[in-house]
Amino acid sequence: MADEVAESRKAAAKKMEEAADAGEPTVFDKIVKKEIPSNFIYEDDDCVAFHDLSPQGPVHFLVIPKDRAGLSRLSKAEESHKALLGHLLYVAQQVAKQEGLVPGGFRVVINDGPDGSQSVYHLHIHVIGGRQNMCTPA
Ligand code: ADP
Repeated sequence: MADEVAESRKAAAKKMEEAADAGEPTVFDKIVKKEIPSNFIYEDDDCVAFHDLSPQGPVHFLVIPKDRAGLSRLSKAEESHKALLGHLLYVAQQVAKQEGLVPGGFRVVINDGPDGSQSVYHLHIHVIGGRQNMCTPA
């Protein structure tokens, strides 16, 4: 039974990844285009940050590229993505400071693929903080 559930989750994830790679808009594309409401806590030309709908800690926000540019998941990264990846990480710590997570600190998580528990196939960085010993997002 557990194997069947895992297999069906993997199949669903594969479909979502294929759809994202085929150019179908992800929920995050819709957030960037403001087709789904969200309050941006940070925005620049390349990325936005907003609070996660299902926070895993007192503070939990996501940093996402506005243009996925082929990055449905981290393991699709190519040489041409290096500057964007560095920028997203830089913004993550800037917004963490803005949200009061420094000097206490925070956790940065990127889920990759079905085994990494990724559910939205639009690269994103989770930043979670506000208390010690937080668990990793499921
Ligand atoms: P997981 O769901 O296992 O954490 P991901 O790493 O793909 O997998 O994370 C996707 C995240 O996007 C989840 O934490 C989920 O709560 C969040 N999310 C989904 N839809 C929205 C939304 N409309 N606004 C904010 N966060 C969202």
